[in-house]
Amino acid sequence: MALMTAQEYVESLRKLNTRVYMFGEKIDNWVDHPMIRPSINCVAMTYALAQDPQYEGLMTVTSSLTGHKINRFTHLHQSTEDLVNKVKMQRLLGQKTASCFQRCVGMDSFNAVFSTTFEVDEKYGTHYHENFKKFLTFVQDNDLTVDGAMTDPKGDRSKAPHDQADPDMYVHVVERRADGIVVCGAKCHQTGSINSHWHIFMPTISMGEADKDWAVSFACPTDAEGMYMIYGRQSCDTRKMEEDASIDVGNAKFGGQEALVVLDHVFIPNEYIFLNGEYEFAGMMVERFAGYHRQSYGGCKVGVGDVVIGAAALAAEYNGVEKASAVKDKLIEMTHLNETLYCCGIACSSQGFKTKAGNYQIDLLLANVCKQNVTRFPYEIVRLAEDIAGGLMVTMPSQKDFSSDTVVGRNGETIGDICNKFFAAREGVSTEDRQRVMRFLENMCLGAAAVGYRTESMHGAGSPQAQRIMIARQGNIQGKKQLAKDVAGIQ
Ligand code: SF4
Ligand code: FE
Repeated sequence: MALMTAQEYVESLRKLNTRVYMFGEKIDNWVDHPMIRPSINCVAMTYALAQDPQYEGLMTVTSSLTGHKINRFTHLHQSTEDLVNKVKMQRLLGQKTASCFQRCVGMDSFNAVFSTTFEVDEKYGTHYHENFKKFLTFVQDNDLTVDGAMTDPKGDRSKAPHDQADPDMYVHVVERRADGIVVCGAKCHQTGSINSHWHIFMPTISMGEADKDWAVSFACPTDAEGMYMIYGRQSCDTRKMEEDASIDVGNAKFGGQEALVVLDHVFIPNEYIFLNGEYEFAGMMVERFAGYHRQSYGGCKVGVGDVVIGAAALAAEYNGVEKASAVKDKLIEMTHLNETLYCCGIACSSQGFKTKAGNYQIDLLLANVCKQNVTRFPYEIVRLAEDIAGGLMVTMPSQKDFSSDTVVGRNGETIGDICNKFFAAREGVSTEDRQRVMRFLENMCLGAAAVGYRTESMHGAGSPQAQRIMIARQGNIQGKKQLAKDVAGIQ
């Protein structure tokens, strides 16, 4: 099958029997729900740009499995150039949506599961790698979106999966049958879960022998029997449900999405199983997936950062302060921080290496440094954006006030007249444009979009401490001590 268009992608979601709950109720037409639709538009952009000749080289690639032209989001990276192009593609998508476009988790899981299953089979003679290749061929041929599901609820963090009071705190096998397995559990804050055609489940931590039943990885359709999702709310999300509030929403067209995904006795046929009890490979799968996703943030967050910087510069222009040296310097600082993140994304990609399975893995140390910086710099970029924008971004009356006909003034002035008079921008700029840029910045800095730009920068792809553990492991302090000894003449 050819690449899907954006419209075909949206229509393909309607054909699924995905079970979505929000505000305590089942949502039947979730595709058109005003709180969900912006996140669908965002994934649709990964399809739309692949159809645009201008971006063909970045968005599409030749499949290593079939030789067909596929979307890069379903690709197994074949070189360091592929890894670099992945980051460039993510920056582009961030620039076009100013949101989390969700499809990367699937791409990152494809590459991690592909290489890990090869090494599991090598040791145990299992058939996981063949299973996975067949599954990925199906995904590529049908241009599907897949959620890479990793984060378990984890319950008591001091205890291993088998030690939890409730065994469902980590996804696990509850029944082994000749034709497959039955699984229970959940995955938290799953990016793009509802908007995905399929899911790949992976373990979330390294495991020991007693955790065998929890060391499991598999694919399943998003509407599998026994599977459902509870939608995650975001700050100011119900603005999307208000009438005449598209300016107040900030970014009305695009948005991110997270959900709790529940597996209640879901049957997984053998052909979709990629790990089943080989506990010592759980850590490898986690490390590789996390490494790829930490690389990803050196692309997507940079693209979103580009839009935030642009909006701050516009706010300065509309306020008439763009020539002030203090404002110029803040924009330079924001650019410096943002490009530093991009440097990290490009560096860990260009220093990548070939795995035993043949696809390319990023440099783990540099990818973890990348993500560690992402836990900090977007916060500083947002602080500077708020500084430049001024308090108006959070104190302005609503869009309805700006268009209100209700008379309030002595001379018959309406609420709309008064708002437009006192919130006027510099000459030559409409009040509405100023309103739009302020609300956009509010949205990015502390509204619904801040989920993707701030808190996700902190905790997505692993919280800061997870990167510090990896940096400690990969940092080679012993080697560095030896360097010091050699130069200082210490025997
Ligand atoms: Fe992609 Fe970034 Fe969203 Fe992860 S956070 S899915 S890398 S856009
Ligand atoms: Fe993420």
